[in-house]
Amino acid sequence: MQESSYHIEKQIHPIKVRSAWVKAIARPTPHMARITLQGDDLQDFHSPGFDDHVKLLFSEQAGQEFTVPLVGERGLVFEEGQVKPVMRDYTPLSYDNQSREMVIDFVLHGTGVASTWAEHAKVGDRLVMAGPRGSMLIPTVFDWQVLVGDETALPAISRRLRELKAGTQVTVVVQLNHADAALPLASDAAIDVRWVVEADADAATQKMLQTLQALTVPAQGEGFAWGAVEYAQVTPVREVLMQRFSLDNARVKVSSYWRREA
Ligand SMILES: Cc1cc2nc3c(=O)[nH]c(=O)nc-3n(C[C@H](O)[C@H](O)[C@H](O)COP(=O)(O)OP(=O)(O)OC[C@H]3O[C@@H](n4cnc5c(N)ncnc54)[C@H](O)[C@@H]3O)c2cc1C
Repeated sequence: MQESSYHIEKQIHPIKVRSAWVKAIARPTPHMARITLQGDDLQDFHSPGFDDHVKLLFSEQAGQEFTVPLVGERGLVFEEGQVKPVMRDYTPLSYDNQSREMVIDFVLHGTGVASTWAEHAKVGDRLVMAGPRGSMLIPTVFDWQVLVGDETALPAISRRLRELKAGTQVTVVVQLNHADAALPLASDAAIDVRWVVEADADAATQKMLQTLQALTVPAQGEGFAWGAVEYAQVTPVREVLMQRFSLDNARVKVSSYWRREA
């Protein structure tokens, strides 16, 4: 085990169900809807971790109303007979308690309640959300960091880059299905961004792994690697990150952000 001088803190937050309404819609790329939401419930919204997520609640069938759940001791409470929503996880890209606004970037992947909702959203539409339930506060002071993901990870990666300070070295590897899905990434840190453009799933995984294998990071100092990828990529990406950069489990966090249907 590596001796770490940096502590990763986990915070748990009380769950709150909030409503917000679509205030503005933009298309930062042809494959993404950037939705600005506004509502009084956002005045105490709190999301200290760059990879926090909210659960967005949708009707299973278009046009159907669902019952907004209450919050019990163990989380959201759905009573018998009520129409349950379906829930999807999304990253708050940014929020502002004063203006009671939040921005979420939705990848438009073609099917699914969330993607379809975002594709057809209109100003004034209501969105119900819950959370974030917890936050992982990963120190910004690691000497070097590697961030890996696909388009669904871009909001979390953008948040991480925004919080990193000058003097940090960060390498970002993002797999895109289309070259025009790339977004500008800004940071005070020194960033090296590698876009891996490949739509075929197996080829995309191979190219992403090859890109990671070819990276070099400083020989000195403490590092951290973070990733958010499709379910089948989690294990190979984590393994490459651990082996290539000699990181142990505590210094690598790779999550599944979605699952391809067989
Ligand atoms: C912690 C966390 C944070 C996330 N943050 C974001 C975010 O900020 N922005 C964002 O866009 N996504 C984000 N995601 C991913 C998002 O939750 C999933 O993509 C989700 O499945 C989308 O729901 P849906 O209703 O559109 O599709 P689903 O009903 O879940 O799936 C319908 C079909 O689409 C496929 N599918 C789902 N997602 C994708 C995809 N991205 N590309 C191609 N095919 C897909 C499924 O395999 C299935 O066949 C996050 C996930 C997690 C776990």
